[in-house]
Amino acid sequence: MKPNRFSYHAPSTVDEAVALLAGYGEDGKVLAGGQSLLPLMNFRMAAPEHLVDINRLPDLDRPRRTATGWHFPALVRQRTVERSAEVARDLPLLTTALTHVAHPQIRNRGTICGSLAHADPAAELPAVMTALGARMHVRSARGEREVPAAEFFLFHLTSALEPDELLTGVSVDDLAAGTGTAFREFATRRGDFALAAVAAVVVRDDTGTVTGCRLVAAGVGATPVRLSGAERAATGGRLEPAALAAVEDAARRETDPLGDLHAGAGQRRRLVGVLARRALDDLVDQVDRVDLREDAA
Ligand SMILES: Cc1cc2nc3c(=O)[nH]c(=O)nc-3n(C[C@H](O)[C@H](O)[C@H](O)COP(=O)(O)OP(=O)(O)OC[C@H]3O[C@@H](n4cnc5c(N)ncnc54)[C@H](O)[C@@H]3O)c2cc1C
Repeated sequence: MKPNRFSYHAPSTVDEAVALLAGYGEDGKVLAGGQSLLPLMNFRMAAPEHLVDINRLPDLDRPRRTATGWHFPALVRQRTVERSAEVARDLPLLTTALTHVAHPQIRNRGTICGSLAHADPAAELPAVMTALGARMHVRSARGEREVPAAEFFLFHLTSALEPDELLTGVSVDDLAAGTGTAFREFATRRGDFALAAVAAVVVRDDTGTVTGCRLVAAGVGATPVRLSGAERAATGGRLEPAALAAVEDAARRETDPLGDLHAGAGQRRRLVGVLARRALDDLVDQVDRVDLREDAA
């Protein structure tokens, strides 16, 4: 299939890009890596009259270490982040999740921000950024605003971005001391979208007691889904087998996915429970390794 006819614009500054978006409104679309937008256009499921290609905007293609964490500007490719040893050191959850996103060829072009703006509820990055409490930086001709990840994803393929707004970057703070992270996904084939996935961010004190927990699922709702019941089940004690079983049970009960041709609702519900438990189980191992090293010292 070929896309509908469209006009192509290649601004060279952010000001120019947002002025174009302001002028075209609903008829304009940002083109970043093109890995989601172009297939949709080729299938004529999207037919923007004006494409605003942001690939020539300067200084937006490298992740930046800031005083408090990491900033990923709009043109940072998924593969660049996946291959960064510094990001892996500070945000291993992001690095691990990226290895599940599509295939390397797609990650070479696809951007972190493009995946977030696309807001596919089965995508890994929206769930990960929600679990990490990321902040979206949004700019338009009307000004700038910041949107917490928890308020950014509104519905299937719908984010809080207005048609005239550009997502200029996403920021993630450093993890607090005692934080462990894990990511578990089930997909039919390597590189497919997840049937279900769970991102876990868990804070423990030095006795191993969980003092804070964020569990966010992908593939089981119209947005990333916070598993609040499972979070409560995990908090206040150590990650013992009984707590993990309670987490699995709560996650399964609190999700209400739709079935589709890839997996039934019941299968997705069971999956999210198992994945939540396994993600926390991965963290038990992390604690054990730390304990062993301390014993040996
Ligand atoms: C075969 C295949 C398999 C895939 N599998 C997966 C997978 O398993 N998991 C997964 O998460 N993704 C998957 N993807 C999607 C891939 O990760 C895309 O790269 C990503 O969703 C979009 O990033 P992009 O930079 O290519 O955005 P584009 O395709 O350029 O844009 C996507 C949407 O976001 C908007 N947009 C992009 N950037 C901005 C911005 N800065 N500001 C405002 N709006 C913006 C565009 O207007 C468009 O609506 C797959 C893609 C393909 C083709």
